[in-house]
Amino acid sequence: MTATAEHVHQAGTSQAIKGLYIGGTWQQASDGGTASVRCPADGREVAVVAASTAEDAERAIASARATFDGGPWRRLTDIERGAVLLRVADLLERDKAAYARAEALDTGKRLVEAEYDMDDIAACFRYYGKIAGLDAGRVIDTGRPNAISRVVYEPLGVCALIAPWNYPLLQAAWKVAPALVAGNSFVLKPSELTPSTSILLMETLEEAGVPAGVANLVTGSGSTVGGPLSSDPRVDLVSLTGSLATGQTIMAAAAETVKNVAFELGGKNPNVVFADADWDAAVDNALTAIFLHSGQVCSAGARLVIEESIADRFVAEVVDRAKKIRMGGPFDPDAETGPLISAKHRDQVHAYVQAGIAEGAELLCGGYIPDEGPLADGYFYPPTVLGNCRSGMSVLRDESFGPVLTVETFRTEDQAVAIANDTEYGLAGAVWTSDASKAQRVAGALRHGTVWINDYHPYVPQAEWGGFGKSGIGRELGQAGLNEYREAKHIWQNIQPAPSGWFGTAPAPKETGEGAAE
Ligand code: NAD
Repeated sequence: MTATAEHVHQAGTSQAIKGLYIGGTWQQASDGGTASVRCPADGREVAVVAASTAEDAERAIASARATFDGGPWRRLTDIERGAVLLRVADLLERDKAAYARAEALDTGKRLVEAEYDMDDIAACFRYYGKIAGLDAGRVIDTGRPNAISRVVYEPLGVCALIAPWNYPLLQAAWKVAPALVAGNSFVLKPSELTPSTSILLMETLEEAGVPAGVANLVTGSGSTVGGPLSSDPRVDLVSLTGSLATGQTIMAAAAETVKNVAFELGGKNPNVVFADADWDAAVDNALTAIFLHSGQVCSAGARLVIEESIADRFVAEVVDRAKKIRMGGPFDPDAETGPLISAKHRDQVHAYVQAGIAEGAELLCGGYIPDEGPLADGYFYPPTVLGNCRSGMSVLRDESFGPVLTVETFRTEDQAVAIANDTEYGLAGAVWTSDASKAQRVAGALRHGTVWINDYHPYVPQAEWGGFGKSGIGRELGQAGLNEYREAKHIWQNIQPAPSGWFGTAPAPKETGEGAAE
């Protein structure tokens, strides 16, 4: 079936409600519940989906377990599974327009940004399709002529894949593609705010030839379906992209059954600019680092860490340009960035800014909720810059996940590194300088999972993504992103079996003591 937005965006129509996909069929929530999805740019309803219950999640887990244990997917070769992933990539490219439209409506992001996301999603499936079978294991030199020793990889089993709302399908794809190519079955749970493209993905996987029951989907709130996904003994791995608090809840729930966990959590990412940096590139990218997608990016460069000698002029230019950034909905040709995901999130970002000001930060631009014109219908928040920030302030410690840039200054390279590492997170950061040695020294000293030099934001599926510290556990993308979904097994074969000779062959010593045979 060709994926179309209409399969999802059925608000106001009589089409069957989708969202709960178990064993290859669309089902209704056990209590018949549904949930409305609203576009953050204007609040209008764009989809109605199943509001799954905990019981529905348990049925989805049972489906994934039975399909995994039964084995149609895991018994294929890596190369056969890889071929299916390459078909998925082709289908995603064919249906890019429908996917991008659905993503833009759910998130409020500009259509063109949703289209970029779809390219990245296809590239992720293509990458894992292509590397299938390239690292199937290895032969070990045991140093013994009588032994053959191999390390092979096997799928983990049933994976619960929990995705956020900022890059809904992209973050899901980073999990689904490696989980599938490794031979697992899974239950995907998108954010309740952005389920539409995950629904489309189930149709694409089915069309590409993924057997029924391997891919299951549960739409619903984390508090309702998250419990079974992270505590059910039939689940082998929980992979979450989300907030630190959710990661902590899942980790506690997964402890009882000692599940594997893979977490991509928050970030409080420094963008370090030295006085010798390329001025125009550094100013421009300081804006992109934080204001792309209105700051709703886990790796957003939310902390400008700038050399004191250029700070005033640099910040003045950033503020001047930030004030000119145009906000608008997904289909507004003049918009440069979109709304925040919900009224609740916007209000939290505003409260975060207010708290920073109360602690002594200086509001240089933004910092208000638009209350008139078309922006008032959506959940917009303007690019905001806070100067005069000092260590210990909540705005330097906590993630806002909104368009809020803080400014800190340094005098020496050591100070720059210390400020950049002064966070419990460690997801990403950047260093701007024309001194190649300094760039390498600082990049080496930063305790963050991705470091850009004279750039911000680019990534490729071949390179691992993940965080130090409280930014997460494990890695997505790259070879390590595949290994998260595989068990390594060591197989040892003795081709000339013989007694080990460890214990002697002399007769057993006579037993003594009470009860011993006379
Ligand atoms: P969130 O933690 O609120 O939700 C993420 C997902 O977890 C959603 O699907 C949600 O329904 C689910 N969930 C919530 N409570 C749960 C529970 N108790 N059990 C199981 N699942 C539960 O996060 P969000 O608001 O959707 O996303 C924003 C966060 O994600 C930010 O902190 C951001 O930094 C982080 N993020 C990180 C990366 C990364 O690569 N490190 C990428 C994107 C987003």
